[in-house]
Amino acid sequence: MVIIMLGAQGTGKGTIAGLISEEMKWPQISTGDIFRKNISEKTELGIEAEKYIARGELVPDEITVPMVINRLNQKDAQEGSILDGFPRTTQQAKKLDEILEKLGKKVDLVINLSTPKEELIDRMLTRRVCSNQECKATYNTKLHPPKVEGICDKCGATLKQREDDSNSEAINRRLEIYEEQTSPLVEYYEAKGVLRTEVVSTSINRMGKDVARVIIEDIKKN
Ligand code: ADP
Ligand code: ZN
Repeated sequence: MVIIMLGAQGTGKGTIAGLISEEMKWPQISTGDIFRKNISEKTELGIEAEKYIARGELVPDEITVPMVINRLNQKDAQEGSILDGFPRTTQQAKKLDEILEKLGKKVDLVINLSTPKEELIDRMLTRRVCSNQECKATYNTKLHPPKVEGICDKCGATLKQREDDSNSEAINRRLEIYEEQTSPLVEYYEAKGVLRTEVVSTSINRMGKDVARVIIEDIKKN
């Protein structure tokens, strides 16, 4: 089963993808995480991608698409996978359809997360991530704080703020790109009949974990 997480920055895509991944034992394929791992390891791909990521711009398809193909071809992704951060443009979505077709697969479910814009910026500013690249757990100092401030509950490593989350220009640029280039994917997948929209908002007391719970139940039923 191929699941795609759609939704603006700060809606909780990573949190929900992580919970589904844990429960179903399918890998969470986060392009942002793969880029950040490469940046911290100073690989050639990382050095190139960093130029774009620091500014909040999209990394070019020539770099991103082969990286995703490579990941989807790995053994652990054969039964199921949760794509988090890809596709982000109609062009990438079309590319993904081609890639999956070759593998005898298709996009089965697109989880589209919707959160009021006022909440998004605040969530990015209060997001903290585990500095251990093998763990990558995500926290939020207000909504989902770790048990001990600044320390990851899961592995004990220190938590840090992503560079592109601490810079208001990069935050605004990312939200702008989402509106312009990624949000058309809602219609793209709606037309294919695979879209499932879920509201995540403190105003209705519905958080990522609540959404993940109902989705996991539905996946298991089918
Ligand atoms: P966010 O969704 O908060 O922007 P991600 O961790 O998903 O964070 O991505 C971080 C950055 O990595 C993006 O701002 C972009 O520069 C790059 N990136 C991630 N996924 C893609 C993609 N599918 N295409 C191009 N660039 C990407
Ligand atoms: Zn950790």
